[in-house]
Amino acid sequence: MKCYYHEKLDAVGTCKSCSKGLCRECAIDLGKGLACEGCRQDVVDLITTIDRNIKIGTNYKNIKKNGMVQFGFMGILGGVFLCTGIYYYETFSIVMGACFMLYAGYILWRTIKFPKIEK
Ligand SMILES: [Zn+2]
Ligand SMILES: [Zn+2]
Repeated sequence: MKCYYHEKLDAVGTCKSCSKGLCRECAIDLGKGLACEGCRQDVVDLITTIDRNIKIGTNYKNIKKNGMVQFGFMGILGGVFLCTGIYYYETFSIVMGACFMLYAGYILWRTIKFPKIEK
């Protein structure tokens, strides 16, 4: 591929915004992508947007994962209390178990309902 602005020069890459071929002289290296002179600001914005989306995506995954871990923990705890309570006829343990189970359910609901895009 040749440079869009210099027909005789080989392109080193393409502009991230307009996809024109750019030679070493025309390309502005913005770290995560190349830009031509005219698109510089567009590409900066583009990279910033992508970075932010990646960050939100990672947070979202972590929150989901943590939620599931909490749900599992509470669920197991609730199950143990409930089983113990039923086995020994202990009202207190049954109530505790039920509370943990409810809380686990709440965590699960909250985790699933968690909005994907933070504002
Ligand atoms: Zn461009
Ligand atoms: Zn050029």
